[in-house]
Amino acid sequence: MPVSEFAYKESPETLVLFDVDGTLTPARLTVSDEVRDTLAQLRKKVCIGFVGGSDLSKQLEQLGPNVLNEFDYAFSENGLTAYRLGEELASQSFINWLGEEKYNKLAAFILKYLGNMELPKRRGTFLEFRNGMINVSPIGRNASTEERNEFERFDKEHQVRAKFVEALKKEFPDLGLTYSIGGQISFDVFPSGWDKTYCLKHVADDGFKEIHFFGDKTSVGGNDYEIYEDPRTIGHSVQTPNDTVRILRELFQL
Ligand SMILES: [Mg+2]
Repeated sequence: MPVSEFAYKESPETLVLFDVDGTLTPARLTVSDEVRDTLAQLRKKVCIGFVGGSDLSKQLEQLGPNVLNEFDYAFSENGLTAYRLGEELASQSFINWLGEEKYNKLAAFILKYLGNMELPKRRGTFLEFRNGMINVSPIGRNASTEERNEFERFDKEHQVRAKFVEALKKEFPDLGLTYSIGGQISFDVFPSGWDKTYCLKHVADDGFKEIHFFGDKTSVGGNDYEIYEDPRTIGHSVQTPNDTVRILRELFQL
């Protein structure tokens, strides 16, 4: 093992990773003093990191502006953006991974399909290009709350999103993409394997003997499921940040 910057810790070969929303903070809210204090104590004993689906700016809002110095590892967008001891590691994006040519074909198919759908209403922003994925919405992301509710009812009856996803799978069987229907009006398209397990490649070189993971959406279909079930981690399922604190105190004698 190389000389480790983590050698000062009691158990430098143990890493504890945390989901953000629902695990370290209440959903979409900010971290409490109790959670921060517990993490500061924990960091003296083991390595700690967070892994969330949001981008870094959202995580800075939730966990505090100094968060890159308070965690050994920080993973945004499931690890597409990654920091180790405050320094950025290699980042990845959807377009780099897929390449312009394949993405162009995919986008052209989506736009054509959108135009041929029978829909009661259309608004704007039907295809949103993001760093780690694309988001496709038949009614468009500019729809108002009422229009979103209307579309959701229409989709329940006519299954337009499910049929769209089936058409994409049939047209592009070899692209290695995963489709996730979530929320009211859209679905996400991203490379298979770009769930939270993606971040584990960034910690492989540090040779941890034990990697714990804490998350609140650990059942099938939840965004913590894959990393929680992964053989490389010891999974802990929590309902709230209070649960997280309680388990940490027991497990690491804080
Ligand atoms: Mg969560």
